[in-house]
Amino acid sequence: MVRTVFVNGEYLPESEGKISIFDRGFLFADGVYEVSAVINGKLVDYAAHMERLGRSLKELRMAWPCTRDELDVMHAELIKRNALTEGIIYMQVTRGAADRTFNFPKGEVTPTLIAFTQAMSLVSNPNAVTGIKVITTPDLRWARRDIKTVMLLAPALGKQEAYEKGAQEAWMVEDGFVTEGTSSNAYIVKDGKVITRHLSNEILAGCTRRALMRLAKEEGVEIIERKFTVEEALAADEAFLTSASQFVMPIVEIDGKRIGGGQPGPVVRKLRELFLKEATA
Ligand code: PMP
Repeated sequence: MVRTVFVNGEYLPESEGKISIFDRGFLFADGVYEVSAVINGKLVDYAAHMERLGRSLKELRMAWPCTRDELDVMHAELIKRNALTEGIIYMQVTRGAADRTFNFPKGEVTPTLIAFTQAMSLVSNPNAVTGIKVITTPDLRWARRDIKTVMLLAPALGKQEAYEKGAQEAWMVEDGFVTEGTSSNAYIVKDGKVITRHLSNEILAGCTRRALMRLAKEEGVEIIERKFTVEEALAADEAFLTSASQFVMPIVEIDGKRIGGGQPGPVVRKLRELFLKEATA
């Protein structure tokens, strides 16, 4: 089946999905994006993703490419046209195509909007059973990591370094403290309490993080929002990450050192179960 993608209002076979070489997303990374998971043909945490999209656009003084209703239709159509039962929808908005000047283009420029699906097995991801390995690497990103921009070179380099070292994710480190993963939020567990960095301009406010905070609260699992060091992580009872496509993912090794005996621990297993219960309901 040929994948159907969305480009500026049109549904097209993927080989026909094209944008201008003058697009500011391409030239300046002047664009924002969202990735939403789909389980059983239904979007997960979609309202939170759209809320964050609105915030990212506002922070960059970028126009909405269309109405929220139209975005809802786009997501629903992509699921339908691609018969997507499980996977993700990636969507991106850029400031549009214009002559190359650093300052915003003068006059009316139409934002670019593209979206596509990627079928993937999310619920029965085998990594969730074994747990994954992470490495630590310096956080090379800019100062507004709260905005979900497509400027992903530092995360791409970090993820590549992780893969080359036999790990699946890199935790980025600044002044000795873990900020977050290259595409996920970072957590450790000590004495039954979950510790994760507080929200600020230094990390992305994960939609999965938000859902997890709510579920943990309902379940009586304490989450402390504060910075933690690499040393603390290495001495933790458990570690895990969250993201829209990995949900709640156990970590069993950091920089080659086993965490919690090298097995996913009870707290992360419980939290993943709670998340999946709600997402598949
Ligand atoms: N931090 C970063 C840097 C990310 O790229 C992501 C994935 N978008 C996350 C955290 C997790 O966010 P979410 O749960 O909304 O996918």
